Amino acid sequence: MNPEIESYQRLIDIGRALSAESNLERLLERILREAKNITRADAGSLYIKTDRDTLAFAIVLNDSLGLYQGGTEGDPITFPELPLRHRDGAKNMASVATRSLHLGATIYFADVYETPEDELQERRVFDKMTGYCSRSFLTVPLKNVHMESIGVLQLLNATDLHGNVVEFSENARPLSEAMASQAAVAMEYRRLLDDQAMLKRQLEREVDERTEELRNALFKLSEAHVVMKDLTTIDAVTGLRNRRFFDDTLQQEWRRAERQKYPIALLMLDIDHFKKVNDTYGHLAGDICLEGVARCMAELFKRPSDVLARFGGEEFVAIMPYMEHERALEFAERVRATIGETSFSADSSLINVTVSIGVATTVPDNCSCPRQLIAEADAAMYEAKAAGRNKVRD
Ligand code: GH3
Ligand code: MG
Ligand code: MG
Repeated sequence: MNPEIESYQRLIDIGRALSAESNLERLLERILREAKNITRADAGSLYIKTDRDTLAFAIVLNDSLGLYQGGTEGDPITFPELPLRHRDGAKNMASVATRSLHLGATIYFADVYETPEDELQERRVFDKMTGYCSRSFLTVPLKNVHMESIGVLQLLNATDLHGNVVEFSENARPLSEAMASQAAVAMEYRRLLDDQAMLKRQLEREVDERTEELRNALFKLSEAHVVMKDLTTIDAVTGLRNRRFFDDTLQQEWRRAERQKYPIALLMLDIDHFKKVNDTYGHLAGDICLEGVARCMAELFKRPSDVLARFGGEEFVAIMPYMEHERALEFAERVRATIGETSFSADSSLINVTVSIGVATTVPDNCSCPRQLIAEADAAMYEAKAAGRNKVRD
């Protein structure tokens, strides 16, 4: 095949590879190798501009020196990065690669040793270091869509069919530039993918943070809700649970006891002759006394499962799960005795009261209901009243 047609065929192949190849290193290496083959260069390098304002070698190929560094399978790069600027901020034009990048233009030398001694000193340093003799150059900047140089493709020492170093042929230049542009597209594509992945990670992180904030807010809200709910179940005068809480809890306890078949005791407590307390000491003192009695009872009903509530007026009710009848009676007796022995201070008075207590117990089943248990305890409480008050009945 005509070598020129062959070259363009390779270019087309690279274009195809570009859309299929996801590995940037592999693609860049392929581009460099193809450019080197098409132009019959002895050596070739691909440099990438870093964010440290340097040009770093990505791949170094040199047939005469037997060098293969970087790329997909080469040895580690041993050449230092080339600074793009001097310390004083001036552009570094001392190497062909940095010069090409700064100028944004292809640099072509038939023989670099014909340029003045003080120019391109770095190339001479490189040659001294490696023993190589760089003569013909074809150095092309890689430009992105904004025409910014993001790297450099450099080909060294074109050779003729006998292996002699010659200058690069006329069509080597457009071919290398086409290759360089392929490499730039590949690099830009990768950068866009990286940016996209970074944005995606950032977005995910932000979503995570927001979700966490939302979760915390919801948690606080539910905590506040619990506190609020708690407040609405407290009786203001006595500080005990109110009637609504008692009704709800009795339903729940009832179902649980029915499922697990354990007894529930219900105690109905009514302060004796409380009207007289009000009449004697006044309603406000009556309130304080009521609160005192409630506190005294709360100290007695200490088991976590006990629920003590104000049933209404000067009447209280207690649910005691897992409580057998005999033990419930004993316990009620202790409550009665303790309240009877306690004096409650209200304003400047000490008030003594007694309570009448009705006790009912049951192991809930589907033939009975909570209302029945309340009615039984209530009836027992009235029996205690009828028996002279300050009594426990069942
Ligand atoms: P008994 O021994 O038969 O229970 O007599 P009692 O006076 O306690 O019963 P009665 O039902 O006749 O009267 C209850 C009294 O309790 C009347 C009412 O003013 C008083 N009382 C109810 N709730 C409160 C309250 O919140 N504060 C005050 N200070 N008194 C209350
Ligand atoms: Mg009473
Ligand atoms: Mg009463």
